[in-house]
Amino acid sequence: MKNIVYVYLLFNIIILSSCQPDNKTRSGKLKVVTTTGMIYDAVLNIAGDSVAAQALMGPGVDPHLYKATQGDLKKLQAADLIFYNGLHLEGKMGEVFEKLGRIKPVSAVTENIPDSLFRASELYPGTFDPHIWFDVSLWKEAVKNVHKQLVASDVANRDYYDTNATTYLKQLDSLHKAVNESIAQIPETQRMLITAHDAFGYFGDAYSIEVKGLQGISTLSEPGLKDVADLVNLIVENRIKAVFIETSVSKKAINAVVEGCKLKGHTVVIGGSLYSDAMGPFGQFEGTYIGMVHSNVETIVNALK
Ligand code: ZN
Repeated sequence: MKNIVYVYLLFNIIILSSCQPDNKTRSGKLKVVTTTGMIYDAVLNIAGDSVAAQALMGPGVDPHLYKATQGDLKKLQAADLIFYNGLHLEGKMGEVFEKLGRIKPVSAVTENIPDSLFRASELYPGTFDPHIWFDVSLWKEAVKNVHKQLVASDVANRDYYDTNATTYLKQLDSLHKAVNESIAQIPETQRMLITAHDAFGYFGDAYSIEVKGLQGISTLSEPGLKDVADLVNLIVENRIKAVFIETSVSKKAINAVVEGCKLKGHTVVIGGSLYSDAMGPFGQFEGTYIGMVHSNVETIVNALK
């Protein structure tokens, strides 16, 4: 009789425990899905392999135009926790996040950051420029949001996440300082960063380099002939040595600027390719946030100094 009671109790415990709401996969890991690689990298730095993380947008992908595929929707549905940038960066995915947000934690890494720290969008009045990752000190606020949300969803690993977050935030402090020192090496008259679209506004504000984009803040609008002509005049007048292309934006517009300068007798070169809205390949240094920032700064300084 005792044995029967014991088996009955054990059976109930198994049934009960398998019915417990649990945020984790069968392997015990929280399933985290992010939109951009930059956010994915923040998750990895804080959670390591204690979560099963994946990014929807790989190298060279333009988040402004990105639409969720059927495969993405499956990943999002299976996720325990979702991170996206917000501030309309993922302009075509708003509805998906809104729906999923009713049933699971869907967190914008830009939420709860004071509006006063954001740049106003020149293209869409009343909204903010979403490219906050190019001011390393501002991106730290996004990393803190990622940390907070990971702890909320997986409190058992809190100490581990806290330790990693502290270490990573210190690394970002060093990175911020290093970028400042590197940009200061460019002669003041050459401190102008010209690219295809305005991804670098925060970068310019944070590190004292003037930024001119052809395309406005989003990549949705094509630059007009007047935009090209204005930029050509600016480059010729200031004898700017180099302009830059971006890995997630078409080269066409910036080539038109180079040609326009040539017609006016000024040679401007393409100073290299910058990572703007997507990082380099996963597994390489440029495929990490810190590596991406370093690579950009090196490209900019080498071409303009
Ligand atoms: Zn962009």
